[in-house]
Amino acid sequence: VIDCLFCRIAAGELNTHLAHQDEQVVAFADINPQAPTHLLIVPRLHIESAAHLSAADDGLWAHMLHTAQSLAGAASLDTAGYRLVVNTGDHGGQTVPHLHLHLLGGRAMGWPPG
Ligand code: 5GP
Ligand code: ZN
Repeated sequence: VIDCLFCRIAAGELNTHLAHQDEQVVAFADINPQAPTHLLIVPRLHIESAAHLSAADDGLWAHMLHTAQSLAGAASLDTAGYRLVVNTGDHGGQTVPHLHLHLLGGRAMGWPPG
């Protein structure tokens, strides 16, 4: 989707540094980080939100999770822990309508997130 910010980043149009890229996903630092490590794991396929995932996307979703796990390990967060977040829709606080998994770590976080 040409007007979609994360589709454009995945396509390399915005010269965003990619912390990871493969055939299915890209990952990059959030422009407005909420923790010392704040990465976004984004499928190349345009899926609007977690509410738009279907069983056909199970492999992609699992790959997003495994990518987050691997990036957490690379950032040495696996022992201390980290948070994975998928804001979904208006009440979920989603601001970019292209599915993404937030990986947050590097400090203790409160719960609930507000
Ligand atoms: P949401 O609020 O939809 O869960 O998360 C969208 C995230 O994308 C926000 O945390 C926001 O800071 C980040 N973001 C928005 N625009 C850009 C951008 O152009 N580049 C990067 N790297 N992150 C962005
Ligand atoms: Zn998109």
